[in-house]
This record gives sequence, C-alpha cells and structure tokens, in this order.
Amino acid sequence: MSDVILFSGGMDSFCLLKNHTYDKILFFITGTKDNLMELRQLYNMEIDGIIDSNIVHIINLPISIFELPNKIIPHRNAVFCLMASNYGNNIFIGTTKGDTTKDKDYVFKSQIEGILNYFGQDSEKVVPVGYPYSIQMPFKDMTKTEIISNYINNSNNINELLKYSRSCYTNTDKECGKCRSCLRKAVALRNNNIDYSNVFEMDPLSITLSERDIKKMQSRPLEWQEYQKALG
Ligand SMILES: [Zn+2]
Repeated sequence: MSDVILFSGGMDSFCLLKNHTYDKILFFITGTKDNLMELRQLYNMEIDGIIDSNIVHIINLPISIFELPNKIIPHRNAVFCLMASNYGNNIFIGTTKGDTTKDKDYVFKSQIEGILNYFGQDSEKVVPVGYPYSIQMPFKDMTKTEIISNYINNSNNINELLKYSRSCYTNTDKECGKCRSCLRKAVALRNNNIDYSNVFEMDPLSITLSERDIKKMQSRPLEWQEYQKALG
C-alpha cells in the first residue's frame, strides 16, 4: 500500500500536504504559464526543507496544448490519476466543496477507481504499488475557508502557507490579485483573519467585479456566500 499526493502548488494542495504523510509527492509539468511558477515554488519548498526531495517526482506531461480559453484542460485529473497509479494505490487530490468541474467530484472518484481496479486485476500488467486503488479527497466536503481554518486549528504555520502556496493563473512574480483564483484565495484568507498584504500585486477584494463575474460566482452559492462574508 502506498500513498501518493497530486501536488499542484495551490493552497488546497499545500494544506493537503500538511494534513497527512505521503510516500510520494507527484508534480506534473503541464506547460501552462502558472504551472511553471508553481514548479518554482516546489523547488523552493525542497530547498527550504519544507518537503523531502527524495519523495518528490516531477513528471513532464505537456497537456497545456489542450488548454481552453477558460483555463480548463479537458480530463486533467483523470490523466493525472491514471499516471499516479504507477506511483501509489491511494491517490490524494485536493478538491473542495466549491469545485464544480466534473473531474473533481464523487462520480469522477468512483469512475476512476472502477477503471484502476479493473486494470489492476491483471497484477502482472500494472506497477505493483498495492491494491485496491482509491482516490482520496479529504477536503471534498470543505470550502476553501474551512480548509484554511482546519489548517490553522491543526497548528500549521501560516507564513509557510503564504510563502509557498500559489494559486494565480498568471506568471507574475507576486500573485496577480485580479484572476478568479486569486480572489478565491483572498476570500479564504480574509475569512480566517489572515493578513495577505504581501501576497498579491493588488488586493483582490478591492476590485469591483463585472456583472459577468458576479453571475458566475452566484452560480456557485457557497463561493458567493464566502465572498460576501469576506467583504464584511
Ligand atoms: Zn491571479
């Protein structure tokens, strides 16, 4: 049996990393701009001894060529989980309650487990990492605000979270503060009374959202609720 985490560099996956011990940490080089910044953070974490470089596996998987204008890479987590099954049979991913993409939900979990456990019946045709396979989503019933609150309650270090996690869609040095991912991060931090003044190029909560963004957020009621709470 072996536990492997899919590490993306974002706040959720950083909290996931601190929540558990793993046999292996997987990072995929997908080739998107933000992915390279996340890789830089991963190296910084290795240099600073936040993670053990002996268990880090960096895999080249240039699927950014399939990236859509809305930043979605079709089937991304499905591809990641299939690859991860060569490293461990318990595969941890940092999906949250607010995630609406189909490759981050319980149906996805059971479908991928079905495929992996079907293939795994031919034990001589798969890497012997353990059986059965399972997709673990420990944060699936928590919002981002709740994940950070849980991180704090478990006596984890807030400065580490701010220094090493990166959620932004752009490749600016500091996180841009303008993209949806930055806004979600700021909301979760503000709702936990964490000072994020050094994280973003501009305060995501100071930006007036467009009608389109508001509509999009309102289609995800939890996200909208937490945003309202953060605005105070
Ligand atoms: Zn951003």
